[in-house]
Amino acid sequence: MSTIYGPVPSWRFGRSLGIDIVLPPKTCTLDCIYCQLGSTSTKAVDETKGNIPDEVRVKSDLEAYLENVNLQTVDAVTFSGSGEPTLNPHLGEIAKEVRKLIGNKLLVILTNATQLHKEKVRKRLVEFDMVVAKLDAGDEETFRRLNRPKSKSITLKKVINGIKKLKKEIDGQVALEVMLLRTSNNYVSNVFGRSLKSLIKTAKSLNPDLIQLDIPYRPPSESYVKTPSDSEFKYAVDQFLREFNPEKLWVYGIHDMRDKKVKWKSGGDLENRILTLLKRRPCTESDISNTLDIKKEKIQIILKSLVENDKIQKQESKDKIYYLVKE
Ligand code: SF4
Repeated sequence: MSTIYGPVPSWRFGRSLGIDIVLPPKTCTLDCIYCQLGSTSTKAVDETKGNIPDEVRVKSDLEAYLENVNLQTVDAVTFSGSGEPTLNPHLGEIAKEVRKLIGNKLLVILTNATQLHKEKVRKRLVEFDMVVAKLDAGDEETFRRLNRPKSKSITLKKVINGIKKLKKEIDGQVALEVMLLRTSNNYVSNVFGRSLKSLIKTAKSLNPDLIQLDIPYRPPSESYVKTPSDSEFKYAVDQFLREFNPEKLWVYGIHDMRDKKVKWKSGGDLENRILTLLKRRPCTESDISNTLDIKKEKIQIILKSLVENDKIQKQESKDKIYYLVKE
C-alpha cells in the first residue's frame, strides 16, 4: 500500500496530496466520537512500532506518485491519513525528504496535539509551513467525552502546554482545528454554554495564527454525533468572531477551496485508485471525479460494481452520499 494518496479535495487547502505515515489499521492516541475513520482499533500513547514507514519508503512512494500526478495541480502536501502522524518516530526525516521533492509547496501536518508536550516530537515539526493542532474542548470533561483519550495520562492540560511550546519554537504557522458539534443524546456539545466559552478562552490563550472551524460533515464514528444546526453554528462562529480577527478564522461553508481539478500525467487501475482513496477518506462521487480527473459517469459505474461486490458502502451525511470502504 502506498503511503501517498489523493490529492483529496479539502475545504481548507484545496487539492491536498496526502502522506500517510501511520498506515492502516487506524492508530491513534484518541478515539474522537466524530472520527471519519471509525473507532480507534490500535491505541497508542507513545511512538508506535506498528505499520510505520520510514523516510526511504515515503521518498520512494512519493517519487513514483509524482511521475503520474501533475504537482502544479496540487495546492498542499498534507501529513494525515490513518492515524496520528506524530506517532511515527521518523517524522522529522520524512518531512525533510518530502520537502526536497515538493519544493516550496505548502507543507502541512494535521495533528491531535497529544504528543506536542514532548520536545523530541516538536523538533520533528520544524520543516512544516503549517501545523494544524486539534482543539475541540477547553475543559477536561468535554475533552474526555468528545476526544476520548486512550489513556488517563493524555490530558487537555498537556495538549495546551504542548501547543504553547510549539508556537514559540517553530517558524511555521500554528493553526487550531476546531470541530463544532452536538450530539442527539446531549452527551456532549461545544457550540453553546460553558463548553463553548472555555473552548474560546483556551483558543485565545494559545494565540494561534489561524483557527479553522469545522463541522462533522462526513460520516462520524458514532451515529449520535450531529452537525450543529445553522443557528447553533452561526452563534458559535459569532462568539469566535468576538475574540478573533476575521482574517484569522477559516469557517466551514465560507472558506471553501474544493472543486478544483487535479491533472494526472498517467493513470493506472481505476478501481484500485478509488479503493486506495476511500481507505483514507470517505468521498462523494464529485470528490472522486475531481481527484482522479475522470468523468462522473465512469466513476458511477465502478462505484456501483464495488458496492455490489461488497467492497464499499454508501452512507448519507449532511444531504450528501459518501462512499466508504467496508471494514
Ligand atoms: S485524532 Fe484524528 S484520527 Fe485520531 S480519533 Fe481523532 S479524528 Fe480520528
